[in-house]
Amino acid sequence: MSGDSNATVRDVVIVGSGVAGLSAAVYAARADLDPLVLEGPEPGGQLTLTTDVENYLGFPEGVGGMELIQRGKEQAERFGADFRHGTVEDAELEDRPFELELANGDLVRTRALIVATGASARWVGADGEDELMGYGVSTCATCDGAFHRGDDVLVIGGGDSAMEEALFLAKFADSVTVVHRRDELRASEVMAQRARDHEKIAFRWNAELLEIHGSRDDGVTGATLVSHPDGHPMEKLEGSAAPEATTEVKRETVDVGGIFYGVGHVPNTDFLEDTAIELDDSGHLETREGMTTETALEGVFGAGDVMDPDYRQAVTSAGTGSMAALDAEAWLEAQAVRSASRALAEPTAQ
Ligand code: NAP
Repeated sequence: MSGDSNATVRDVVIVGSGVAGLSAAVYAARADLDPLVLEGPEPGGQLTLTTDVENYLGFPEGVGGMELIQRGKEQAERFGADFRHGTVEDAELEDRPFELELANGDLVRTRALIVATGASARWVGADGEDELMGYGVSTCATCDGAFHRGDDVLVIGGGDSAMEEALFLAKFADSVTVVHRRDELRASEVMAQRARDHEKIAFRWNAELLEIHGSRDDGVTGATLVSHPDGHPMEKLEGSAAPEATTEVKRETVDVGGIFYGVGHVPNTDFLEDTAIELDDSGHLETREGMTTETALEGVFGAGDVMDPDYRQAVTSAGTGSMAALDAEAWLEAQAVRSASRALAEPTAQ
C-alpha cells in the first residue's frame, strides 16, 4: 500500500497490474519515475487465469501464468514500484495533473498516466447466464474446472481460449464438447490439433448456445443449442435473415453439468468513456499512428490488451508496457525541459 495522500502528485500512475502494467512498472521504476501501480478487480490480469504459457520468450519448458505475474511484480518492486489495490471509477483528464477517483473515494493525481487495464471475459448473452454465472457457468476453467469432475461440459468458442479451456477441462470432465458458431476454428493450429487429438473432446460445429437450464441450488443441468448448416444460427434467429434460413435453424437440448465461455474479451475502458481519449468501435483505446503508445490525450499512454485488438499475446503486452513507460518518460522529460525554459524566459521580479 502506498502512502499517497490526496495531495501527492505522482510522475507516473499505471492502471492495471497484468503483464503490460508490470512491464511498464519495471521500466518506469528503473527510470526513477517512482511509479504507482493500481491493481484493479483482477490483480495480475488474464495470465493469472491461464495454466501454462508456452510461447513467452525465455521459458523453453513453459511457465505458469501466475508464476510469470508474481515474478514480474517482484521485479517491479525490486526497482521501487509501489502497488496499491484500487479500481478507478472516474478519470478527470481535462487538466493536468490528471486525477483518478478510486472506488473507495480516494483521489490519485499524476502527471503521466499509463492505461493497462486489459480486457475481461465476454459473455455470450444466452438466456439464464445472468442467474447461473458462477453456479455452473464460468469464464475460467482453471478456476472452476475441478468442480466438474465426472460431468459432461460444454465449452463455447473456437479460439485459443476455448481450446485451452477444453484441454484443461478434459482432465476432470467425462466429456467436453466445444460448441463453435462456424465450421472452422479460429485457434492456432497447435492448440486446435491438441484439442482435436484429445479423446474426451468433441466438436459441435455451426452451433450456438441459446439457453442454459438449471438453478442456483442445482447448478447447470442442461442447455439448448441452436445450429444452422451455414453457421451463425443466432443471427438467423434474430430476424435479419430470410424466413427460410430461420426455419432451417435446429434446436436441441443437451444434458450437461457445466458451461465454460471462451468467446474472447472486451477491453476495460468504461472509466475513459467521458474523456478525450479516443476508443474504437469495440472499446479499445486508440493510439496514434506509428510505433507509439501515445493516445489522443497528451500524457496518457496505452499498453496491452486494452489498446491491442489484434495481437493480444503476453509477450506483445509486455512489449507495449515497456514502450508506454519509455514514451511516458520521454514525454515527462520534454515537459520538464519546456517548463525550465519558460522559467528562464520569464523576467525575474525586482
Ligand atoms: P478470440 O481469438 O477472439 O476467439 C473468440 C472465439 O469466440 C471465436 O472463435 C469467436 O467466433 C467466438 N465468439 C465470439 N463471440 C461469440 C459469441 N457471442 N457466441 C459464440 N461464439 C463467439 O479470443 P480468445 O480465444 O480469447 O483469444 C484472444 C487472443 O489471446 C488470441 O490472440 C489468442 O491467440 C490469445 N490466446 C493465446 C493462448 C495461448 O497461446 N495459450 C491462450 C488463450 C488466448 P468466430 O471465430 O466465429 O469469430
